[in-house]
Amino acid sequence: MSMNQQWLLARTPPGGLPVAEDFTWREGPLPDPGAGQLLSRTIYLSLDPYQWGRRRRGLEEPGEVCHGRAVSQVLKSNMPAYGEGDFLFNTNGWQSHGLSGEGISVFNYMFPRKIDPGVAPIATAIGVLGMLGLTAYSGLVVQCQPQAGETVVVSAASGGVGQVVGQMAKILGCRVVGVAGRAEKCAFVTDELGFDACVSHLGDDLASDLAAACPDGIDIYFENVGGKTFEAVLQHLNKNSRISRCGLISQYSNMDDRDPSEVWLQTGQAVFERQNCGVFPLAVGNFVAEHQDAFLAQMADWLKDGKVKYLEDIRPGLENTPEVFRDMLEGGNFGKTMMQVADDPTK
Ligand code: NDP
Repeated sequence: MSMNQQWLLARTPPGGLPVAEDFTWREGPLPDPGAGQLLSRTIYLSLDPYQWGRRRRGLEEPGEVCHGRAVSQVLKSNMPAYGEGDFLFNTNGWQSHGLSGEGISVFNYMFPRKIDPGVAPIATAIGVLGMLGLTAYSGLVVQCQPQAGETVVVSAASGGVGQVVGQMAKILGCRVVGVAGRAEKCAFVTDELGFDACVSHLGDDLASDLAAACPDGIDIYFENVGGKTFEAVLQHLNKNSRISRCGLISQYSNMDDRDPSEVWLQTGQAVFERQNCGVFPLAVGNFVAEHQDAFLAQMADWLKDGKVKYLEDIRPGLENTPEVFRDMLEGGNFGKTMMQVADDPTK
């Protein structure tokens, strides 16, 4: 008989990067779906930097299954719209099997979404053809409204969100400059994804490297990391520039109690005022109802036509999740990070 394998949050993490003491492994019987619920097995589990921010801020309780989005397959359903064998995007979390439906999801606006395996590989539903792609679209296209010829800078450029932001900006006719870590990541975004340039935040003088890569200044900054990358970008923002503040990865493991968003705003305040910048905090959940369907249709076409490429970093075994999570937060991932929890029957 199958067992449910789970990672629970062991404690509200005190700070720094994840360690073994933050998580507890548990095995138990499979749950039975109640009325208005379904049981699915997790195939791919999405690992995302924001999960660490949630845990550190106490938005997950110790003893709860760690939150996470997933691609899963229905095993038993008491929900008329979903049948056994259907593939879903849902929020199973860090476990091999999960219930969805009435009273289950913490993100109720994301009730299970069926995935058509004929459109694209099912793993893309937690990457380019899902929430990460929608995040990129919402921040870049909806919030910042790029115009052809403008210069767009995106940090964490080779990651799940960053790679989509840059490619969409290219489609819209912008000059696109990525910021990434290792040389192979920088080479990937220019040589494979077609960005115009990429600078490394590991170099000695990021501000000068950015100046060289952005001779006409920066019109749009898609913020994924904060910290010293943000400080370097600030020096080159043009008048009427726009910033989508999507994430602040470099701050999620800070040991102090300062609110990263407040620090970020204070750091930029003078420049924002001087340059008349539009600053947009981003929460992708606010864009689902209005933009998700149109985005998914558009992205499916771009993928089919080869206009958007994507790189996934798929690691084996639910049991390895905490180590891979930490590795991603330290930049060890290369592309959208996910765990392969069970075999993908479409492959
Ligand atoms: P990534 O796949 O980009 O993985 C994280 C990357 O961050 C690492 O590979 C590393 O890349 C980079 N990084 C880590 N530490 C630092 C640092 N100190 N300075 C600079 N870069 C660092 O993650 P995602 O694409 O999943 O997420 C990107 C951002 O989007 C995150 O901030 C996340 O929280 C945010 N997000 C926000 C959403 C919203 O609704 N606002 C929704 C979804 C995601 P490198 O080696 O190149 O430095």
